Amino acid sequence: MGNERGGTAVKGRIRQRPATFASQGLRPLVSALEASKTALHREMGGFGVVDAAGGNPADETDQAVLEQEVVFTCLLKQRVKMRLDQVEQAMQRLRSRSYGLCQECGRQIPLERLRVQPDATFCVPCKSRLESRW
Ligand SMILES: [Zn+2]
Repeated sequence: MGNERGGTAVKGRIRQRPATFASQGLRPLVSALEASKTALHREMGGFGVVDAAGGNPADETDQAVLEQEVVFTCLLKQRVKMRLDQVEQAMQRLRSRSYGLCQECGRQIPLERLRVQPDATFCVPCKSRLESRW
């Protein structure tokens, strides 16, 4: 009693199948997440080399190129780090059994979407709504 969630009118019914989801072919997604984690870790490892690029640049052009490279590497690194965080969060959600639920509306993200993007945190309608807001 007194256990209803929210009073917001949501189109359609809210279907939640918490326990069964784990058995719905999640295994390929888990290995996909693990594979991308390994790949991202490897990518992160590769960046260190460029960062350490020392030496003394001969002229201003070299200096500029070098600086550009450092900035570019920095951006790439941030992107990889972000992806890595997303993957790790997805794995954490797998452990806490909240995996595959939209962080916005709480509905189950369709498995087809998760197959394309195993670390998806929003369902398609919410994602496009959030993106159009920005
Ligand atoms: Zn949603």
